[in-house]
Amino acid sequence: MERIKAIDEIRIIPEFIGEAGMEREVRIDPEVMTATLANEDLQVTSPFTIHYEVTRHLETLHVRVEVKGEVSTLCARCLSPMTHTVDLHLESDYMPAPPEVSAQVEAERLSAETGYFRNAILLGEYIISELVLSLPFIYLCTEQCRGLCAGCGANLNTGQCTCQANDDPRFQVLSEFKNKLRR
Ligand SMILES: [Zn+2]
Ligand SMILES: [Zn+2]
Repeated sequence: MERIKAIDEIRIIPEFIGEAGMEREVRIDPEVMTATLANEDLQVTSPFTIHYEVTRHLETLHVRVEVKGEVSTLCARCLSPMTHTVDLHLESDYMPAPPEVSAQVEAERLSAETGYFRNAILLGEYIISELVLSLPFIYLCTEQCRGLCAGCGANLNTGQCTCQANDDPRFQVLSEFKNKLRR
């Protein structure tokens, strides 16, 4: 497996893609991946793999990409370390760019599924933007994560703390009821 130093190095030269197409798998080192994501809350500690396949149909090239890896972060509710698995599948057609398309061919896609190329398909740029878009906005260790107690900071996934028991609305209703009885 080929190792590359930056994802935007992944470029395909259409004139070299014949009827047989091409297929490749590259490995991205964790430090490179962490730098690519450029999000101080996300760390990558093991390599990512990017597998891509290109097939040709006349002037149009069809690209299929699989991105696999793991991102380490903290749960937004309970702050426990957690990993998010990346298993991204992308497909895009690429057509020769008409003259009016600017030099930034990858930014000037026709749609999510159709991009342009001039001398090269900027596949790495496409992969980075789709990968960033695919990541969750909020990371949770589980959908049911109960978070930390606002009073004592205890992790409520591991049990109920004493201050939470006092704040429980059912206990509040009970104490109001007792106060009424006393009056
Ligand atoms: Zn959590
Ligand atoms: Zn508490």
